[in-house]
Amino acid sequence: MATSSENFVFPLKCAVKNNAWGRLGASSEVAKLRQGSDPDFKYDEETPYAELWMGTHPNGPSVISNSQVEPSALKDWIKKNPESLGEKVLLKFGDDLPFLFKVLSVNKGLSIQAHPNKSHAEKLHASQPDKYADPNHKPEMAIALTEFEGLCGFRPIAEIASYIEGIPELRAVVGEGPSAALLNNNGVDGTTPALLAAQKACFKGLMTCEVETVEKNLVKLVQRIQAMDPESTEFHKHNGELLLRLNTQYPGDVGCFVIYFLNRTVLQPGQAIFLEANLPHAYLDGNCIECMACSDNVVRCGLTPKFKDVPTLCEMLNYNGKPSADNLFPSVQDSSDPYVTVYNPPVPDFAVCKIEVPESVSEYTISPKDSASIVLVIEGEAQSDVGPFQRGSTIFISAHKSVTIKKKKGASLLMFRAYCEL
Ligand SMILES: [Zn+2]
Repeated sequence: MATSSENFVFPLKCAVKNNAWGRLGASSEVAKLRQGSDPDFKYDEETPYAELWMGTHPNGPSVISNSQVEPSALKDWIKKNPESLGEKVLLKFGDDLPFLFKVLSVNKGLSIQAHPNKSHAEKLHASQPDKYADPNHKPEMAIALTEFEGLCGFRPIAEIASYIEGIPELRAVVGEGPSAALLNNNGVDGTTPALLAAQKACFKGLMTCEVETVEKNLVKLVQRIQAMDPESTEFHKHNGELLLRLNTQYPGDVGCFVIYFLNRTVLQPGQAIFLEANLPHAYLDGNCIECMACSDNVVRCGLTPKFKDVPTLCEMLNYNGKPSADNLFPSVQDSSDPYVTVYNPPVPDFAVCKIEVPESVSEYTISPKDSASIVLVIEGEAQSDVGPFQRGSTIFISAHKSVTIKKKKGASLLMFRAYCEL
């Protein structure tokens, strides 16, 4: 069947990933959203539903669910209709969607990782194509749907130093030499090159520590924390709850000690973090929207059974510490639409906006963009020419196209939209 010109906006059926770290059954936003868009999709309470992938990435490609539109694979359809991406996207990125849009439901810590910048990604891919299959960079952004916890960026050096000073097991795995160098330099005003070098040496010391030494000291630390009163300052000073939780999830893993180097960041719904190149991070718990450049490029160093590339990671990381709150990425109110909040990171590959249509509004038009976009409905119900908008509906909107939706008064509608701001 020929593609008619009206068929440039359509619903998608999206891939679900069942990674072991995902939330189980009904506690997973991913499972519930996926079912909302497709009553044939049944979830069970024993299976983890970790990720919903919306886009054209070959590891989880979306399929067009309107049978009038062919070919049905979104990637193939875009190749046949490249103008749907918008001229600017086509010129800059070629004939594929430059971003991957996701929902994550995290039950257990994901690997501690960082993503290389573009030129570094190209080098890694050229020298080790078996381990780095992708030459693209992977900046990513997470926006909390529920309370969302992660590790993000280095702590201020003084904080790291006080953990090393106060926790002998940490000092043992970091090493006496690097620990002493950091503690001797600490107290100097600001972040001097010597202090940064000492901090890097401490992190490297931990990452290259022998496995037996890590395991032995982690057991010791866990036993010591277990003997503490969970209400005590001592327990909090050791980040006791998080250490015990991670050690239950990844017993003996060097990543458990990383909580003393990286900020623990807790986002409230609607708050975001942007993970630029070389910023170390790990997601720990909760549901979020995620958007990233279409890539799989990850360098890992802990909380994972996957391949770890410690030397590469230690060299590439951004060691500049800052307080946890400074990692929040600010959103801005759209100047032309009171219902739209924009999260626009400093990369051309993607931007995300939140659309909240209030109870009092019965008709609303999702405005045209210069780029193709994907809209995901989180809450609420409405009707449109392209089908229902309900919890879990995922709609592809070609560049320069708009959609008008009609909803009942008395219920609000919450959507997120991924697109390119070029
Ligand atoms: Zn990441």
